[in-house]
Amino acid sequence: MDARIQVLNENELQDNRYVVYWMQSSQRTEYNHALEYAIVEANKLSKPLLVCFGLTAEFPEANTRHYTFMLEGLKEVQANLVEREIQFVLRAISPEKAAIEIAQLAAVMIVDRGYLRIERDWRKEVANSIECPLIQVETNVIVPVESASPKEEYAARTIRKKIQVQLDTFTSSLEENKIQHFSLNEDLPFSTLVPIDIPILLDHLQVDGTVPAVDGFKGGTGEAKKRLADFIERKLPFFNDDRNKPGYDVVSDMSPYLHFGQISPLYIFHQLQAASPSENKESYIEELVIRRELSMNFVFYNEKYDQYVGLPDWAKETLADHESDERKFLYTLKELEKAGTHDPYWNAAQNEMVLTGKMHGYMRMYWGKKIIEWSQNSKEAFARSLYLNNKYNLDGRDPNSFTGIAWCFGKHDHGWKEREIFGKVRYMNAKGLERKFDMQKYVDKINGLL
Ligand SMILES: Cc1cc2nc3c(=O)[nH]c(=O)nc-3n(C[C@H](O)[C@H](O)[C@H](O)COP(=O)(O)OP(=O)(O)OC[C@H]3O[C@@H](n4cnc5c(N)ncnc54)[C@H](O)[C@@H]3O)c2cc1C
Repeated sequence: MDARIQVLNENELQDNRYVVYWMQSSQRTEYNHALEYAIVEANKLSKPLLVCFGLTAEFPEANTRHYTFMLEGLKEVQANLVEREIQFVLRAISPEKAAIEIAQLAAVMIVDRGYLRIERDWRKEVANSIECPLIQVETNVIVPVESASPKEEYAARTIRKKIQVQLDTFTSSLEENKIQHFSLNEDLPFSTLVPIDIPILLDHLQVDGTVPAVDGFKGGTGEAKKRLADFIERKLPFFNDDRNKPGYDVVSDMSPYLHFGQISPLYIFHQLQAASPSENKESYIEELVIRRELSMNFVFYNEKYDQYVGLPDWAKETLADHESDERKFLYTLKELEKAGTHDPYWNAAQNEMVLTGKMHGYMRMYWGKKIIEWSQNSKEAFARSLYLNNKYNLDGRDPNSFTGIAWCFGKHDHGWKEREIFGKVRYMNAKGLERKFDMQKYVDKINGLL
C-alpha cells in the first residue's frame, strides 16, 4: 500500500449512503492526496462524497486572528467543492464529534494526517467510535513521517539523507479526479454552517477576541499560490544571501498557509522545480523539506514535545547547572508581551509578531534566546515562549512552533562553549545581530507600523 495511506481501524465497509472525507489538517482542495483518495473510493463504490469539517472554538490557544485566517481558507474550500459538485459540511462542533456523527451514514471515512497530540487523539477516538473504516492519507509533508525515519532524529544532519533519498518516490504529481455522483443536494440530518459568514461565525463560536485578525495575511489557497508565485519570481533569486536579514522581505511567507494546510508542500516543491537550478532553490528546499519535516519527526516521536522535560538531557542538565546564575534583566510576562524591554531589537521582533501575525525567521531565534536570559528560570522561559509564539503568530501551534522553541533550548543543536545562564546551550547577542545585519533598518521598519 502507498506509504501515505494507513487504515486506522478494522471495521468492514458499510452499506451506507455516502463516502466522507473528514477534512482536518489539510484545508485545501488542490494537491490534497486525502481528497483525491476519497473521490476515487466514492467512484469505486458508486456513492456520493461529502467533505466534513468540525469547527471547535476550543482548539488550544486559537483566537480571532487564527480563526479569521482559517475561515477565509474554508470559504474558498467550500466554493471549490461546489464547483466539483461536492457538498461541504461545516459544523460548529469539535472535529471528532462532527466526524463521528456524519460517519453514522458513511460507507467509509477518509481523513488527512495531523502530527500534534490533539490531532492524533481525535483520529484515535473517531477510529474507535465509528462503524465504518477510517483511512488516513498523509498529505501535508513530502515524505511521510514514518517513511522518513522510524525514530526521533537528533538533528537535521541525521535526517537529511534519509529524506533526500526518498524525494523521487514521494514527489510524483497528483492527479485530480472527477466525482461521478454529485452530493450537493444530499439531505443531511443536521444543519451546516454554509455559506460561511466569518463575523457571524466568530460571534457564534465565541472565539477569544483578544488578538485581532491582521490585514497583511488573507487566508486561502488562492492567496498562498499568488504569494508563492511572487516569491519565486522576485525573491527566490536572493533567498540564499538575504533570507536571514531581518530588515528585508526575501522570505516566502508560506508558513501560515502550510500551518492550516491551505497549500501543499508538494505543490510548492513542483513550482520550485520549474525555477532554474541554483543555490537559492537548494536552500529553500532545505527549509521547506528537511527542516520542516524534522519538526514533524520531533512532535510525532517525542510525546513530550510541548513540555520542558521533552528537551535533550544534556541541555536540561547544563541549564540546571546555571539556574542560580545572576540575571541582569528580569521581565514579567506582561512586560515581554508589551515589548517593554531595554532591547530595541527584541522589542521590534515582539511588535512585528503582535502587529503582523508573523515574526521574521532569524529574529525568532534571537527572540527565544533572550526570553531564556530574562526569565527567572528556563522552565518559565520555555512556557512563556510557547505562549507568546502560539498566541500571536499566525503559524503558531504548528510542529514548527514546538520545534523552533525547543531549538532555543538546545534541541537539534549541539553544545557550545559554556557561559552564564545558558551553560552549553547556544547563546545569541545584540552585537552579533549588529555585526551581520543593518538592525536599524529592521527597527525602523517595525516602528513604522506602530
Ligand atoms: C523560536 C522559534 C519559533 C518558531 N515558531 C514557528 C512557528 O510557530 N511556526 C512555524 O511555521 N515556524 C516556526 N519557526 C520556524 C521558522 O522560523 C518559520 O517557519 C519561518 O520563519 C516561516 O517563515 P517563511 O514561511 O517566510 O519561511 P521561508 O524562509 O520562506 O521558508 C519556507 C518554509 O520552510 C519552512 N521553514 C523555514 N525555516 C524553518 C525552520 N527553522 N524550521 C522548520 N521549518 C522551517 C517553513 O515551513 C517555511 O514556511 C520558529 C523558529 C524559531 C527559532
